[in-house]
Amino acid sequence: MNKSIDCEMLRRYDRAGPRYTSYPTVPQFHSDFGEEEFYACAQPTPRPHAGASMRPLSLYVHVPFCRSPCFYCGCNRVITRNGTVGERYVERVLAEAQRVRERLGRSGPVLQFHLGGGTPNSLSGSSLERLVHGLGEHFAFNSRVDRDYSMELDPRSLPEKPEDYAARLVRLGFNRVSLGVQDFDEQVQLAVNRVQSAEQTLDLVDACRDQGIQSVNVDLIYGLPKQSLEGFRRTLRTVLAARPDRMAVYGYAHMPAAFRAQRRIHESDLPDSAGRLALLRLAIEELTASGYRHIGMDHFALPTDALVLAQERGELQRNFMGYTTHGGCDLLGFGVSAISRLGDCYGQNLKDLPSWEHAVDSRRSPLWRGLALSADDRVRASIIEQLMCHGQIDLFTTEREYGIDFQKYFGDALARLEPLIADGLVTRTGQAITVTETGRLLLRNVAMCFDRYVSAAAESASASRTI
Ligand code: SF4
Repeated sequence: MNKSIDCEMLRRYDRAGPRYTSYPTVPQFHSDFGEEEFYACAQPTPRPHAGASMRPLSLYVHVPFCRSPCFYCGCNRVITRNGTVGERYVERVLAEAQRVRERLGRSGPVLQFHLGGGTPNSLSGSSLERLVHGLGEHFAFNSRVDRDYSMELDPRSLPEKPEDYAARLVRLGFNRVSLGVQDFDEQVQLAVNRVQSAEQTLDLVDACRDQGIQSVNVDLIYGLPKQSLEGFRRTLRTVLAARPDRMAVYGYAHMPAAFRAQRRIHESDLPDSAGRLALLRLAIEELTASGYRHIGMDHFALPTDALVLAQERGELQRNFMGYTTHGGCDLLGFGVSAISRLGDCYGQNLKDLPSWEHAVDSRRSPLWRGLALSADDRVRASIIEQLMCHGQIDLFTTEREYGIDFQKYFGDALARLEPLIADGLVTRTGQAITVTETGRLLLRNVAMCFDRYVSAAAESASASRTI
């Protein structure tokens, strides 16, 4: 790793920013964009970038239930120990899916399927079967080798023995799993209210592999309370010994005003900027020394992994599930707060469970808000995806594809990029803007230069400060 980044620089760039799993990002969605506007995107149209309902599909189901709150959590979840809520939830998801399918009229093959949460494995084995088989009545699941059918797993909440659950997943067609770990250090686990042993985690990894799951991802977090270099090194080495195909190392963002559970974290237990940087450096050193490639923001994978191969071919993409090889799919999201994308339109479901339930029970669309991409959004979305996936903007191709003069169109953005160039985070030639090795650690800051909404918000904040 390039050593030129230091704490002072990290502090300067330390501002909250999007993870750019979409552009525009979710806060830009608005509630006067409803069901009619959203489904209009599914109609075949002559516009070159607009949607088409026969595109392959990515399906997402949000399962919000968790047994106990992890204090760092920023997800939309419902804490409950009532094991029967999942059954009723699944029936409503299926009712929603049937309605969407009828509305679309037709649909392409399902190339990507993801169960996220919350804790999807809070569903009983029979509820999970009902969910997958029920969705299969409306959408074309298949056994293509390039499919990505994945599920987030919490080893603490399995409804049956790991080998039985893993076997069930394989029978249902899943070929990928993702396990949340964060840190195995006991002090950290107590401070974030998530006690999960290395043994139960690794047992589940082994069971998944033994039963035929092809790809295992593990999530870690740096910047948690009570985290130490020694403890995090032990965690990294324990996880790396299991050789997951993919790993994500996220930075904890402490935003107690936005997320209630985070108020249970004592700020004095959090590492400072220097501590966070040291933890991140450690993670990158350990992962790269073990042969993992740094794909982009927060994500690493083995050189043989499909994401790395796609990146080498220049085909890596990004969608709401993160880095993907299936970014060209239309996305249908089901369940509370789930997000969908049809062509150039985004839509998000109601965010609180009773409202979503009520909409589904009343046979109304649970869509809450969304937007249709403008021509300007499309060019910026392309640029931000190029940065996130390839660390580079191809100026010539962008100009040709979108019919713009880059220098003129992005004069403001290029001015915002100047300090980043001066700091060695980005280089610029006549053909390309390229993120340096150091800049890859601050990828979202580079992308934010091209985000019209972030810039507008920053300008209006500075205008109101001057008034
Ligand atoms: S981190 Fe995951 S398991 Fe923990 S409360 Fe949040 S959604 Fe639930």
